[in-house]
Amino acid sequence: MDTFFDPRQTAHAPRQELQNGAFVPYAEKPERLDAILSVLPTPLAPTDHGDGPLRAVHTSAYLDFLQSISAQWKAEGRDGDALPYVFPVNAPMHEDFDRVEARLGRFCYDMGTPITPQSWESAYWSAQTALSALSHLSRGDDEHVFALCRPPGHHAGASYCGGYCFLNNAAISAQAALNAGADRVAILDVDYHHGNGTQDIFYERADVLVASLHADPRTDYPFYWGRADETGKARGAGTTLNLPLPQGTRIDAYMAALETALSTIEAFRADTLIVSFGADTYENDPISHFKFHMDDYSRLSAAISRLSIPTLIVMEGGYAVDAIGGIVSGFLDGFAS
Ligand SMILES: [Zn+2]
Repeated sequence: MDTFFDPRQTAHAPRQELQNGAFVPYAEKPERLDAILSVLPTPLAPTDHGDGPLRAVHTSAYLDFLQSISAQWKAEGRDGDALPYVFPVNAPMHEDFDRVEARLGRFCYDMGTPITPQSWESAYWSAQTALSALSHLSRGDDEHVFALCRPPGHHAGASYCGGYCFLNNAAISAQAALNAGADRVAILDVDYHHGNGTQDIFYERADVLVASLHADPRTDYPFYWGRADETGKARGAGTTLNLPLPQGTRIDAYMAALETALSTIEAFRADTLIVSFGADTYENDPISHFKFHMDDYSRLSAAISRLSIPTLIVMEGGYAVDAIGGIVSGFLDGFAS
């Protein structure tokens, strides 16, 4: 299976994040990529598809924010990485939220996603990596292709960042596939955490099915999204499927839920499948609580590949740096079996 990757994705490297009341080293670090690249064949370089596909999913105001906030942070005399500390919960919205704190609170939903001078460039090339892999898939040479994206994307909404995510690579790819002629796209999210951004973007859309297996939001981030009764709205009623699972879930229980997701995707008759793959279901992941073993991942992908739908795999989370290479290679190998 071919892999796409761009080294500019490693430039984004926040020093620390706020977690449980303390600043701790940033978990979504560039070394994750080095560990994955060390076990894969030489990747292909993405081409620049421009900002049109990004604008098809994200708002102009949000894209302007991502490109300018770090410089504004510095111009207003702040040190270190840009981070919000106040949020407009139930506040009246105005167009002139211009001060750096007001902009950060408006477009970020958590305090765990610092923005550095390099964040935009890394996020931009992460999206281009996904778009280039999608183009490769549409040429029909392979039925599966891997986009080694970083920063990840599934927590980013149309106009917000959070959960280490800035641009929603899976959503940008899904919309690009539709714009290129697909009638229906399915997104299967198998990261440990619910992909709230992806759900939000397509919640009222009938042409994109979003199916997600994740830790129950009553116990796990992102807490406010991902319950089983969130099933879509308006024209999108019935095109969101959430399968929350308890902490401690092992592969056998997970596979039973996965079969529900796969049969729903099959019934949706998608032209293209996008898999948001997180390696943070692993038993020794430092921020997650499922109990997958290293050799479980090929079982997962073998089941997905039986759908026989052209599939773009997009990298999301996974923070056990010493294990992530083995997890990703095991997952990719299962598609060929
Ligand atoms: Zn995750």
